Amino acid sequence: MSKMRAAQISRPGGAFELVEREIPQPLAGQVRIKIQACGICHSDSLVKEGHWPGLQYPRVPGHEIVGGVDAVGADVAQWKVGQRVGVGWHGGHCGYCDACRSGNFFGCSVALQITGISFDGGYADYMIAPAVAVAAVPDDLSAVDAAPLMCAGITTYTALRNSAARGGDVVGVLGLGGLGHLGVQYAVKMGFKTVAIARGKDKEPLAKKLGAWRYIDSQTQDPAAELQKLGGAKVILATVTAGDAMSAVQGGLGINGTLVVIGAAQSMEVSPLLLIGGRRSVKGWYSGTAIDSQETLAFSVLSGVRSMNEVFPLEKVAEAYERMASGKARFRVVLTME
Ligand SMILES: [Zn+2]
Ligand SMILES: [Zn+2]
Repeated sequence: MSKMRAAQISRPGGAFELVEREIPQPLAGQVRIKIQACGICHSDSLVKEGHWPGLQYPRVPGHEIVGGVDAVGADVAQWKVGQRVGVGWHGGHCGYCDACRSGNFFGCSVALQITGISFDGGYADYMIAPAVAVAAVPDDLSAVDAAPLMCAGITTYTALRNSAARGGDVVGVLGLGGLGHLGVQYAVKMGFKTVAIARGKDKEPLAKKLGAWRYIDSQTQDPAAELQKLGGAKVILATVTAGDAMSAVQGGLGINGTLVVIGAAQSMEVSPLLLIGGRRSVKGWYSGTAIDSQETLAFSVLSGVRSMNEVFPLEKVAEAYERMASGKARFRVVLTME
């Protein structure tokens, strides 16, 4: 009764261990979530491979979590047992440092917490989450549908939503993978002239199916030149992890255009002349906080945006993770607990 399954990593580079643990109790300011589904994000490799400085092992990864509130600690006013909720990458903040006081919770300098890194995440039957990190999940979304939206969805949606692009503007989405296939859908539903950019002619039917206005095959076409023929992009959302691919599209930015980087490439080359001459810029975007998750889910319900998922039961976590890591998944991998 009081035991649960958890898939933990015990050391950097270690294999997944499916272990039995006591079901934890929520302390003040925390809720316990009975997890139904958890997406596997590429960032979970930070735990698996030990690329996060100071990470304490063993650790249960997972920051695309959907389930139900199962128990509530003291001093939690906003959540009740039985509510459908989710938890994403942003796992909490202090609320009183200068960054927090100016609303930049992602930049918290005192107690920034990352789900599945600072504390155990969603590759388990239950988890404990800070109440501040919890988002409400609408009934219109299944747990499997909602899970990938808690990281891949919120990141692409809020990056576009907070960009300078307005309805009718040309917006490029570089990459058609786990992030990109959502980015194209959100861009289309926001009313942008959405240009999907990926390698190979074979991706074009998918891009069109997702609603893209144009498709650029970066293997046979120069994406910068093609974007300029369309008037230049107000925004290009770079979802890939290849720096050279990002460098190759920057010339497609129009005047005052912005390359918004959400793919964690090692490095990229930027042309200062290009930036200066057209007042162009390159910026990054952080996923968002719990309210951003809620708004992502609400927009996804409103507009019909959904992730395409491959679903595995928790017992097959190793296989599921490998599938994600292979880059062959179409397009997000989701673990289910029931
Ligand atoms: Zn993620
Ligand atoms: Zn803070």
